[in-house]
Amino acid sequence: MTTTTTDAKTRELERKARQGDGNAAFELVQVLARAGQPLTELVKWLPSYDSHDSDAKTLHGTPLDRGYVGWAPGDAGLEYPTWKDFYHGPSEKRGSILVDEGGYKGCDDDLNIVVDFYFRTDHDSRTCTACQGCGYNPETAALYRSFYRWDDQLTQDEVDELVRAGRLWDLMRGEKHPTADKVNAWSRRGLGHDGINQSILVKVRATRLGFYGLCPTCNGNGSERLSEDRLALYLWLILPRKGASRGVEIKSVQVSELAEVREFLRRSWRKHEQHFKWVTG
Ligand SMILES: [Zn+2]
Repeated sequence: MTTTTTDAKTRELERKARQGDGNAAFELVQVLARAGQPLTELVKWLPSYDSHDSDAKTLHGTPLDRGYVGWAPGDAGLEYPTWKDFYHGPSEKRGSILVDEGGYKGCDDDLNIVVDFYFRTDHDSRTCTACQGCGYNPETAALYRSFYRWDDQLTQDEVDELVRAGRLWDLMRGEKHPTADKVNAWSRRGLGHDGINQSILVKVRATRLGFYGLCPTCNGNGSERLSEDRLALYLWLILPRKGASRGVEIKSVQVSELAEVREFLRRSWRKHEQHFKWVTG
C-alpha cells in the first residue's frame, strides 16, 4: 500500500515536472536519488544542456530539455570544484573579475548578474593513450594521421561518399556530382577538406582496405574515464560595471545541495523581475 502511494506520488511529481514545474522537478530528483537512480537519469528532470550528441534526444527527452543554449562546457572561464567552493568559499577564490567587488555575494547586489544556467552530468577524463585521442584502431589511426598526404588523391568512391553526405557544397555549385579529379584539383587550390570530410574519407578508405575500426581501449571516444559521473552546474555571469562576462563551471553539485542551488537561482530571477517590472507590469 505504501509502495503504491509512493509510486502515485512519484508519478504525480513526474507529470508536473514534465509541465515545467520546477518545484516538482526538484522534489522528484530528491525522490529518485533516494531510490538510487543514477545522475544521468536525474539530470533529465533538470534544465539541461543538449551537447548535440546523437543520443541527446534520449538523454534529455523531457520538455525540460534546454536545447542548445549558445555556450558550452569548456567555454567556462571560471571553474569551481564544488558548489561549496563557489557559494560558501572564500571570495578570493572566486575568480578575478568577480572577486574584488565582493565575491559572489555580489549576486544579491547589482554587480554580478546570473544571465542563464544549465545542469549536465560530467566526469573527469584524459586523452586515450592508446589512440592519442583520435578514437581509431592503430591501422585506421595511421591513415587518419597521414590524411594530408593523400587528401588530394581521392578515389571516386571516396568522393561519392562526400557527395552523399552533402559535404562538397561549395565545390558543387552548378555541379551535382563532381569527379574525383575535379575534387582533387580543388583541394590542391583551396582550403581543402575539413575535419568532417577527413573522418568520412578515413572511414571509406580504411573500410575499403579492410582494417577500419575504433580504438579498442576507448571504444572510439578518444578519452578514458577517470571518475564517476558528477552533476555539474554551469552559470553565465555578467558584471556590467566591468563590462565582463564569464561562463562559470561548478564541477560537482550534490543532490542534497540542489535546494540551495535553486534558492540561489530563484534570487537571481527575482533580481531580473525587479529590473524588468516596469516592462512586465
Ligand atoms: Zn583510444
